[in-house]
Amino acid sequence: MINIYQWRERIEKFIEIISVFISGLIFGSFFNVCIYRIPKKISIFSPSRSFCPHCKSIIKWYDNIPVLSYILLKGRCRNCNKKISIRYIIIEFITGLLFVLLFFKFGLEKVYFYYIILIGFIVIFSGIDLEKRLVINKLLLIFIFAGIIFYIVDFKKNDILNGILGFSTGGIVIYLLNFFSNGKIGEGDIKFIAAAGLWIGAYDIINVIFYSFLIGGFISSILLLLKIKNRYDKIAFIPFVALALFLKIMMM
Ligand SMILES: [Zn+2]
Repeated sequence: MINIYQWRERIEKFIEIISVFISGLIFGSFFNVCIYRIPKKISIFSPSRSFCPHCKSIIKWYDNIPVLSYILLKGRCRNCNKKISIRYIIIEFITGLLFVLLFFKFGLEKVYFYYIILIGFIVIFSGIDLEKRLVINKLLLIFIFAGIIFYIVDFKKNDILNGILGFSTGGIVIYLLNFFSNGKIGEGDIKFIAAAGLWIGAYDIINVIFYSFLIGGFISSILLLLKIKNRYDKIAFIPFVALALFLKIMMM
């Protein structure tokens, strides 16, 4: 039998998890805005209201509730009835899930917010790579700048030298792979891995590179076998790095 205090504790924990999940959905919705707007060079702050990618009509607040609105409107715009990409609901849901998993791992400690921001960047880079096969330089600079800020405020008790080493090791390893794979690993990937190396350091970035090739090789073979992709298709690499990086964080 559990007593009333234990019940109370459980209910509080449950409410905490739901709140973290909902905050993840809201952030996911913002990440969708970034993934859509940044490659098109539209400001992520103005217009401040979301608009339909087809008819450009402003989406009413009640049609802009993460996940729920998508399901209620059956993935279509209320104004023009055109289909809205399933990517929107997937990104929202994945972000919610990642926030909850990080919460289980770190609680609401300072370091949790460090990883939330890192994961946020990674989700946006992955989304843009999947949709456009692009790594946006301006976003990379902001990513690097944010990484440096975290060293300065000493959020994670990390060593800046390890960060610089991570930056150069990650960059050099992927540069060599780019060279020997005749460009199958893109130039954008070199810059992205270097920047991620700055955030997580030399040892961790080498691990992440290794696991992203393992995961990437496995998933690409399945896509080839199922004939979803052919061997001339360019497959986005950053989502694999993202997955490897997240696993690495969870195993820390
Ligand atoms: Zn529309």
